[in-house]
Amino acid sequence: MEIKREIYEAIVSYPAETPPEVGGIIGSREWPVIDMFVGDPGKKGPFGCSYVPDTTFLNETIRQWLQEGILFQGIAHAHFHGVRTLSDGDRAYIRRIIEAMPAQIKSLYFPIIVLPERELVPYKAELADGELVIVEDLLKVV
Ligand SMILES: [Zn+2]
Repeated sequence: MEIKREIYEAIVSYPAETPPEVGGIIGSREWPVIDMFVGDPGKKGPFGCSYVPDTTFLNETIRQWLQEGILFQGIAHAHFHGVRTLSDGDRAYIRRIIEAMPAQIKSLYFPIIVLPERELVPYKAELADGELVIVEDLLKVV
């Protein structure tokens, strides 16, 4: 995952130190470099402490970005207590999002903002023959 330094800084400084988990949408004007971020306070999840994307906001932003030539690249969200791995809930919404994408979008990024370290762990998700494959990607800040 290639990302502009100012956007990287914006993402890792977005979440507050305390729950609830929040996230945001990442996009690319100059693909494949991620150079857009819009924060999303999310919706209250069933367990109170997990990020649930606000899909109305998400879809509205993706549509608006398309008109401006910005490609949706995925969703970042925060984890507390240094948790660097995706939860089952995360995997469930990643599947829903990636299955709803137009066919030309082959993969998306779902980076975790790890707190309190404010470190970004980039996960890349793609569908391979209908199977969801998620791998940790290399982070390149440009
Ligand atoms: Zn999560």
